[in-house]
Amino acid sequence: MRKTVSFSKDAANVFFHILTHCNLDCRHCYINPEQHGKSTLPLSTIETWLGIFGERHSGANVIFLGGEPTLHPDLSHAIKKARKLGCRSVTVDTNGYLFNDILSKVKPDEVDFFSFSLDGATPETNDAIRGKGCFDTCIAGIRKAVSRGFATSLIYTVSNHNIHELDSMVPLLKELGIHRFFIQVIGIRGKSAGTEPERLQVHRSDWLHKIPEVADKVAENGITVTYPKAFLTHEEPFECAGLIADNYFIFPNGRVYRCPLCEDFPLHSMMMKDDQLVTTDKINENDLFELNIPEGCVMNKLIQPGNLSYYYDGTPEYKVACCMLKEEVRSKP
Ligand code: SF4
Ligand code: SF4
Repeated sequence: MRKTVSFSKDAANVFFHILTHCNLDCRHCYINPEQHGKSTLPLSTIETWLGIFGERHSGANVIFLGGEPTLHPDLSHAIKKARKLGCRSVTVDTNGYLFNDILSKVKPDEVDFFSFSLDGATPETNDAIRGKGCFDTCIAGIRKAVSRGFATSLIYTVSNHNIHELDSMVPLLKELGIHRFFIQVIGIRGKSAGTEPERLQVHRSDWLHKIPEVADKVAENGITVTYPKAFLTHEEPFECAGLIADNYFIFPNGRVYRCPLCEDFPLHSMMMKDDQLVTTDKINENDLFELNIPEGCVMNKLIQPGNLSYYYDGTPEYKVACCMLKEEVRSKP
């Protein structure tokens, strides 16, 4: 069963970067220290900020991320605080190193998902992107989490460097006992923006041919799959999540974005100032969300124009969807 997950004002998603430091140095890392800073938030600030978003939206989904969030010595306290505030779900995005013995400090009913990142079905492919030894460490981390009763998900960021191993993820996901599989498209931001971007993103025809096919195979094994819709026909409606959904991407330097494609620029529409959430002056990302262009997403046209194709008369052949519009595939009941 495949469905497009439409944007909703009712569900708020708080992507909380509690630090930007990481033990790895992945080739495609989207963290940009110039824009996101290098600080680690103290627990008291994390709790205060969680309280502010908790008050704004009771029942928000909170995703702790970094950098590597398990490097934060107080992550377990932050998780418990989010639970206490009544967050609908709590997820930890991790590279699998699981620092600070995090699995011993929280219980499976406190964390909805430990979400692991793996970018290849073999050490050769994954470690060429994420660093030597990462594949084995991540697999060991997943096994440990599963054996302790935690629900796990896995994020695979597709690029020209690893699309050839996506099929091989099907048996691996099943064998590991993964509950949800997220296929992600590589964004031309952070480090990827500076390194031959045209060679990173897969061509539209490869994306449309490969991704839905693998998603179906994974779902046949009872694993729910989510992947970006990425491209729209002219008949399909275009919507900008920045105008409809309630997503917050919070960085430790206080910037709060509504659109992840804006994160490489000082375009954040909100920020934390003296522990208050305030709106920023114009021009900011909100002014871009309103623009209506035939290519669909305006930020894509600005920073990833290689995704677009035009007919001879200058009309776009298709539209690029909001990066947050997802397809979800579940096995048939
Ligand atoms: S694990 Fe994540 S934060 Fe760390 S270097 Fe890789 S992409 Fe960046
Ligand atoms: S990715 Fe594009 S469509 Fe989505 S929120 Fe950002 S600007 Fe809007």
